[in-house]
Amino acid sequence: MPFHDITGHERPIASIKAALSHGRLAHAYLFHGEAHIGKALTAMRLAQALNCERPYPADDQDSCGLCRSCVQILARTHPDFVVIEPDQELAVPQIKIEQVRDLEQQFIYRPLMGERKICLIDDADRLTIGAANALLKTLEEPPGHGLFILISSRPQALPITIRSRCQSLRFSPPAHTQIEAALILKRELPPSDTHFLTLFTEGRIGEALTLDLEALRARQRECLDLVAPATLTSITNILTSAESLAKADRGVEVLTWLRRWIRDLVIVLVGGDREYLLHLDQMEQLHRYAQQADVGSLLDLLNEIERTEQQATRHLNVHMALETILLRLRDALGLAQTGAPA
Ligand SMILES: [Zn+2]
Repeated sequence: MPFHDITGHERPIASIKAALSHGRLAHAYLFHGEAHIGKALTAMRLAQALNCERPYPADDQDSCGLCRSCVQILARTHPDFVVIEPDQELAVPQIKIEQVRDLEQQFIYRPLMGERKICLIDDADRLTIGAANALLKTLEEPPGHGLFILISSRPQALPITIRSRCQSLRFSPPAHTQIEAALILKRELPPSDTHFLTLFTEGRIGEALTLDLEALRARQRECLDLVAPATLTSITNILTSAESLAKADRGVEVLTWLRRWIRDLVIVLVGGDREYLLHLDQMEQLHRYAQQADVGSLLDLLNEIERTEQQATRHLNVHMALETILLRLRDALGLAQTGAPA
């Protein structure tokens, strides 16, 4: 059951199960791939499979998900399942050498309850140099009962010495159809919402399953108000909106929404696949704008917004940038000359 409730990742899971059934599990793994797609969940399922108290059929290397061991691993209270993650209190979250030293101490001893001691190191690319060196020593002479699973969305930031000690398993975002199916099953949402969440999170199923949909829809409405003719045909309204958003420190967030909306409009303009539209429920408005919008100007604007988003952390005047972008959007949509589209 437990491996089965993971969305996607058929390949890495098959490879883990094959290793389990042949007794050829490596001592250290590196699960890498984009953030929030299910790497840590898979690692936890592997820990459950290794320490499950109920025997599972030989043809299906999986845990029951219900026994004391499985439940404790899920709750992170199992004495043989250790999770190390960056200290989020720090300005730059890091895994410190003390955390790795504690881990070494714990791994000297045999497992207390289960078959294996398992250590999950989340965001392993956040190890300090000292911590990475300490971990390397452990990985060079791993205790026979130990399994280390390193998780990273930036594996290239890990020292090559560490990477070379781990068996690498690449995780890719699950297909959109798989995420939509999981959302229907687990969040019981209607198709329009599952489509919206899937596109918004771009395959990050962990986010899709947990994001506050109502809050997200509220943000979307705000963006739609901003691109409504009532706002864009009036320079006063543009300036007022830009000012209040910048004052609320929401400029960058709104730019991201604008980028997504413009991207949708371009897809409609070039007759692209509707499946890729975040604002699929806004087809009427998108089609109306598509009648008089200029693709070239919109593409330029998309580049401009991306540049602004990248520079926004560096003292950029987001208020000014937002104003300029909204005025350029007004031009690109043909609203400056003709007013609202018919
Ligand atoms: Zn179990």
